[in-house]
Amino acid sequence: MNALKEKLIRHIRASGPMTVAQYMQAALSDPDHGYYAISDPLGRDFITAPEISQMFGELIGLALAQAWEDSGAPEEFDLVELGPGRGTLMSDALRAAERARRAFVSAARVTLVETSPALRAVQTAKLAAYDVTWTSHLSDVPRGRPIFVIANEFFDALPIRQFVRGARGWHEHMITLDGDDLAFALTPDSVPTSFIPEHLRDAPEGEYFEHCREGIETTRDLAARIASDGGLALLIDYCHEESGWGDTLQAVQRHQFVDPLAEPGLADLTAHVDFGALAEVATEAGARVLGPTTQGAFLEALGIRLRTAKLAHSNPSKAGEMDEALFRLTDPDQMGTLFKVMGIASVGIAPLPGLPARAE
Ligand code: SAH
Repeated sequence: MNALKEKLIRHIRASGPMTVAQYMQAALSDPDHGYYAISDPLGRDFITAPEISQMFGELIGLALAQAWEDSGAPEEFDLVELGPGRGTLMSDALRAAERARRAFVSAARVTLVETSPALRAVQTAKLAAYDVTWTSHLSDVPRGRPIFVIANEFFDALPIRQFVRGARGWHEHMITLDGDDLAFALTPDSVPTSFIPEHLRDAPEGEYFEHCREGIETTRDLAARIASDGGLALLIDYCHEESGWGDTLQAVQRHQFVDPLAEPGLADLTAHVDFGALAEVATEAGARVLGPTTQGAFLEALGIRLRTAKLAHSNPSKAGEMDEALFRLTDPDQMGTLFKVMGIASVGIAPLPGLPARAE
């Protein structure tokens, strides 16, 4: 049996069942055995948009540079990426922005928020040409300067708690033992659920509600900074556009779905992001919400077709590859519709192409 699973079983035996959030935290970030802590899974288990094509990071870099210029081109600002993976998106964004608006890159203080030592090493090599700082948490980034933030497939990796509607209230979905193995079980008593939106509390029996406290707190901090210091955040993830019910916890290993309890630390664990809940805290914190829209529509509005044609023209042997990347990033049956983009912006930021301000 894998070492982390043994450790979790010992823990449950000694201290009782754990929440799905505690389990996700251990499976993804345990310092000795956590999925992200010990290895670079990108490409091996799953692939992300910036790893499909350089166009993804380039278009985002250009969009941020434009937004920075439209907001008065502040001389110093923080450019932050949450969960930067292999550093590919940031590297493509900086390279494209440097060509189009060198002053944007000169004014940027680049910070990567990354907890994985294994991925920090990959990012260090990828971004060797730039002056980059690392932190483990957004709250470590000093306040007071405008802040531009990118988070692609970051929020889906944050631990969620799950609640299941019973006959007389909500019970928490826990991880306990069945003999010598891990198993899901519900708390026998119902639990307080003030964070479930009122219109969702009276669910049919058996429905799930998922709550991502870390995602909500990170968004609150992000939005408060943006509201007071100026700036923009782009959140890209697969998500519910509005808060809703559903069990979206999933485990992926070598591009296949697997049982989330089978191999903690050896499979990626994610949950859909509740953009509805994040939009609500962002608005409460005084920022404006842009979108959400689909990744396909957003990339189209940023000019991905033109960019594909340009890259194919300058490198005809890669034309097929470029068309394939365009298809994978934008097609409704690929990543185009499943993934959504939401912006959080200060008043001074003009809405981005394809990402209109949400009516309040
Ligand atoms: N944005 C990248 C990688 C997505 S994978 C891409 O699009 O390719 C998720 C990333 O978030 C990894 O870099 C992982 O190490 C990081 N991560 C996961 N949980 C984190 C946390 N709590 N704090 C900071 N980084 C985290």
